[in-house]
Amino acid sequence: MKTVSLQNLIPEYIKQFEAYIPSKPDDVLKDLFGCRHLFRLNNNENPLGPTAAAQAVIREFPPPRASVYPSGDAFHLRCRLAEKLGLHPDQILVGNGANEVITFVIKAFCQEGDNIITADKTFAVYEWVAEFSGFQARLVPLKDFMFDDEAMLGQIDEKTKIIFICNPNNPTGTYWNEERLRHFLDTVNGRQIVVVDEAYFEFVEEDDFPDGIRLIKEYPNLVVFRTFSKMYALAGLRIGYLAGDLEVVDIIRRTCVVYSVNVLAQEAALASVDDQEHITKTRKLVSEGRRLITRELDNLGLPVVSGQGNYMMIKLPMSDTLAYRRLMSYGVMVRTMTGFRFPNYIRLTISIRQAMEAFVEALSKILN
Ligand SMILES: *Cc1c(COP(=O)(O)O)cnc(C)c1O
Repeated sequence: MKTVSLQNLIPEYIKQFEAYIPSKPDDVLKDLFGCRHLFRLNNNENPLGPTAAAQAVIREFPPPRASVYPSGDAFHLRCRLAEKLGLHPDQILVGNGANEVITFVIKAFCQEGDNIITADKTFAVYEWVAEFSGFQARLVPLKDFMFDDEAMLGQIDEKTKIIFICNPNNPTGTYWNEERLRHFLDTVNGRQIVVVDEAYFEFVEEDDFPDGIRLIKEYPNLVVFRTFSKMYALAGLRIGYLAGDLEVVDIIRRTCVVYSVNVLAQEAALASVDDQEHITKTRKLVSEGRRLITRELDNLGLPVVSGQGNYMMIKLPMSDTLAYRRLMSYGVMVRTMTGFRFPNYIRLTISIRQAMEAFVEALSKILN
């Protein structure tokens, strides 16, 4: 057998990076944990499913079209989004989920020796992409569960290229209001790219919550992420996008791999954007679920961290990984938070009443 000098081939930063282990498929999990039904409350999916129009697109998709490449730049979707958001279509880049556009931005601006800044307890993909690409991720601790603007500004140096803000933050649900975001952008003063990840934008109803896309005109270093995975329930089709200043997006576009967004995702997303009723219905479901969980966990004497978005965090008097396994045996899947640096916390996706009740019942059992 031939050998390969693997150790000589691997960059140092890859040697030190541990691969993320995705959860197993539902059928495998059900066998493993011996549960007949599984409530997936781990990924902030929308239990109402895609909008009616998107469901029709999916149902009626002509199978022969699977043989034809999709639009390489999501042409029609960008035009529609641009119209809706008051942008030029070329200010938008569509990716295979917001996850992919994270890689676009990092590739476009970082080179050897550079760093990015984000929080220590936030969506982890910014940190991971930076690190497995060989760039330093400077992780600033949250303050009162919120992104700490002053401390983040203090971490900036001449090698800092991008600052990632998750607004509202996954998993804590905290957010910067418009005044705070503007103050931050004013202080950065165009020296770095500031990414505001608005994956949960459509869930937020607070008056002082900033619409990042409307700030792009004033702050050309601002790049905003949105996704169709959460509110629009197209997570399985993988589609999200970024918006920014024309000149900035022209740079980022150079790093896009063409055809990464499939035709069905593009068409389902296009069909989704006008459905305000879907948003209203989902918001109602989330606010009812949040109320139910808050009340029940208060009865159980467990602290919750809850703000915006379709999720909340719960602090347990036991290890989160143990709680995960025990909850799984009752058919309830939550997200362990040790990986987010919140040991003993779980994150729960707010879902339909039946799922919320199943969670509360299972939780009471595992605590006794
Ligand atoms: C879910 C999520 C994403 C990624 O969404 P995809 O479009 O499915 O890749 C990005 N940012 C945050 C904060 C998220 O929670």
